[in-house]
Amino acid sequence: MIIAIDGPAAAGKGTLARRIAETYGYHHLDTGLTYRATAKALLDAGLPLDNEAIAEAMARKVDLAGLDRTVLSRHEIGEAASKIAVMPSVRSALREMQQEFARREPGAVLDGRDIGTVVCPEAPVKFYVTASAEVRAKRRYDEIIEAGGSADYDAIFEDVKRRDERDMGRTDSPLKPAEDAYLLDTSEMSIEAAFQKAKSIVDAALSRNA
Ligand code: C5P
Repeated sequence: MIIAIDGPAAAGKGTLARRIAETYGYHHLDTGLTYRATAKALLDAGLPLDNEAIAEAMARKVDLAGLDRTVLSRHEIGEAASKIAVMPSVRSALREMQQEFARREPGAVLDGRDIGTVVCPEAPVKFYVTASAEVRAKRRYDEIIEAGGSADYDAIFEDVKRRDERDMGRTDSPLKPAEDAYLLDTSEMSIEAAFQKAKSIVDAALSRNA
């Protein structure tokens, strides 16, 4: 079983993916971390973010077992990740790893931007999780404040919009819903309600295959 979850930043797809994977005992891969790990390796080595051959070589060294969310969640790493994510050879290197992960038994949940459209177009269950840019910026803001940090809502909002434009506007694998994806808009739905909805769709798919 492969479950593909796509959507823009801070729509709640990561939380949803983790809960689905836990519920069904499937493996989970946050594919954003593979782009982030590539970007971090370049930043750490002081290498440029605009050289595709160098970025591809770094992408090929990414170890899926060593992806550390806490380290990779830094804001500047996310920004750098979305810059190298426009490069076709970086995408194809990471895509091969992601596709291999997707074949793990008894099932895998992958979340990202292009899982249902490009990485696993054959996935029997696809979700596109979205929310308005305002709601997503507010969630990011609240997370930072709750963690004891300080944040500027307007700056976060501009950032969310810039990231959306970059992810939706690129030529290779732009962010968009797969034609056969279930749309979950979490602007006015709690993540819990979205999870319950998703669970009923996965259950129905499993009983069709049984
Ligand atoms: O989801 P996250 O914010 O960690 O992703 C960081 C960046 O990696 C995204 O802005 C996007 O540009 C890129 N990405 C991608 N395709 C994926 C996952 C992430 O292009 N499947």
